[in-house]
Amino acid sequence: MNIIFLGAPGAGKGTQAERVSEKYAIPAVSTGNIIREALRNGTPTGLQAKAYIDAGQLVPDEVVIGIIKERLAAPDCAGGFILDGFPRTIPQAEALDNMGVNIDKVIDIEVPDESIVRRMSGRRVCKNCGASYHTEYKKPVQEGICDHCGAGLTTRKDDAPETVLERLKVYHAETEPLKDYYKKTGKLFIVEGQEEVSDTVALVMKALEA
Ligand code: ADP
Ligand code: ZN
Repeated sequence: MNIIFLGAPGAGKGTQAERVSEKYAIPAVSTGNIIREALRNGTPTGLQAKAYIDAGQLVPDEVVIGIIKERLAAPDCAGGFILDGFPRTIPQAEALDNMGVNIDKVIDIEVPDESIVRRMSGRRVCKNCGASYHTEYKKPVQEGICDHCGAGLTTRKDDAPETVLERLKVYHAETEPLKDYYKKTGKLFIVEGQEEVSDTVALVMKALEA
């Protein structure tokens, strides 16, 4: 199954994508994670993306489309995949269609703007491996320490409240139109983000089984 997760920044699509990845044993592909890894490694793509990310802007379409093309060609995506954070613009969705990729389901996780800034302030990320956590919704076993690699957790620079407001603006202008794009194909399922992660997971699984 090929699945897309849509939703505002901080709506919890990353966490949901990981749960679906475990259940269906298909990789979750997060363009945000791929770009942040490139940044940590100081690659040309990472350096090119840095100013956009820090300003809460989208990285140019050509760059992310290139990243996705390469990633989806990897053997582990042959049996299905979950896209978390791509597409984020109409041209990205069109590029995906032009790659001949068939999408089975698009899950849009809806969270009101008022809740987003509060949710974002609880996000934490591992300094070393980039794994993400949340102080309320996805706590590490030991506070402030990464479950995977034991390194310290930090906040993302682009989760600062001013940048979050900019990212929300960009989301409404550039990404939200994708709901209509996929509604027309009959593949769109809307899930209301719940206060408990497990409740959202249950709704997502129901949508995937529908
Ligand atoms: P969130 O889901 O919290 O918004 P991501 O980790 O998905 O965060 O993305 C972080 C940043 O990476 C975005 O604000 C943007 O700058 C860049 N980015 C990630 N995916 C895309 C994409 N598909 N198109 C353009 N920029 C992207
Ligand atoms: Zn780690």
